[in-house]
Amino acid sequence: MDKTDIRSLDYREIQEEMTRLGEKAFRGRQIYQWLHEKLVDSPDEMVNLSGALRKKLEEEYACSDLEMVDVLESKTDGTRKYLFRLNDGNVIESVLMKYHHGNSVCISSQVGCRMGCRFCASTLGGLTRNLASGEMLDQIYKIQKHSGERVSNLVVMGTGEPLDNYDNLVKFIRMLSDEHGLNISQRNITVSTCGIVPGIYRLADENLQITLALSLHASTQEKRKELMPIAYKYELDEVLMACRSYFEKTGRRLTFEYSLVGGVNDSEQDAERLAALLKGMNCHVNLIPVNPVKERDFVQSERGVIEAFKRKLEKYRINVTIRREMGRDIGGACGQLRKSYLDRTIRRG
Ligand code: SAH
Repeated sequence: MDKTDIRSLDYREIQEEMTRLGEKAFRGRQIYQWLHEKLVDSPDEMVNLSGALRKKLEEEYACSDLEMVDVLESKTDGTRKYLFRLNDGNVIESVLMKYHHGNSVCISSQVGCRMGCRFCASTLGGLTRNLASGEMLDQIYKIQKHSGERVSNLVVMGTGEPLDNYDNLVKFIRMLSDEHGLNISQRNITVSTCGIVPGIYRLADENLQITLALSLHASTQEKRKELMPIAYKYELDEVLMACRSYFEKTGRRLTFEYSLVGGVNDSEQDAERLAALLKGMNCHVNLIPVNPVKERDFVQSERGVIEAFKRKLEKYRINVTIRREMGRDIGGACGQLRKSYLDRTIRRG
């Protein structure tokens, strides 16, 4: 049987685990502090524990500990892309973006993805496995240690569909915002989903203060199906209903992501229909100029078209911004760094 990942045990579980081992519960609190506040990577470093307990931890548990394989830094805006190797050899990527309001990290929630969105590089090789809560946390821990600066914001917008790894995701959010760990405010955490309807309803009931971002990308069910296979399972109307319900339950304003694909979803009529769909909703629209992926033949919309799309939404009083393209010079789109690494490794045999 696989060993339990001690980085994935929450504050209560680690104390219970220590009691089970015949230790005092406060040993669990000390271990939690080492792993989630002092950010150490192995029991050897937990110097206030006895040698015997450290040895027992080494023997009986695994500990998510990502190895930094590569870091690319953008010359234009300081954005950094990290490629990490997991304990089992799989690789994932994460991004650090520096804003005036603080440092934001974008993490992956799965190794690969099975959602199949047509314009996305992360889904090209399918899904390998879910990430454990400890592996999601360690992406942030490793980046904070490497940069030497506090991470204040988090977006779950890297590779993977977070609501397809629901339990680990929710546990991860609770641990990240736990006062005994990095204590990142839930209001500074955003989870992006392609629209898994039952997951949205479940998440609304978790009593979290996070922001939900919904990848919309189309203004009709027909067009959405062409871009996002998940739309065959959950129709546009159902998704929007779930979003309305999320807002009613949580009081948290939603973000709608809309990747503009040249000639596909960027016309004036698209903008008009989108405005009609979102009418009366307390939301924010984030327009993303599509990042060209070499395996796909989609092109970015012209700058003028993007601006016109934005103006049209504003005319209908929709709150809208165009996403700043960070780190363009280091392979912008999600999953591209990992993909190019895997391609290189395969070529080398
Ligand atoms: N699975 C989640 C989160 C992953 S991606 C989701 O679907 O929301 C985060 C956002 O980037 C999503 O809106 C996704 O559709 C978008 N995206 C993926 N590839 C892109 C590309 N090449 N260009 C622009 N946006 C892209």
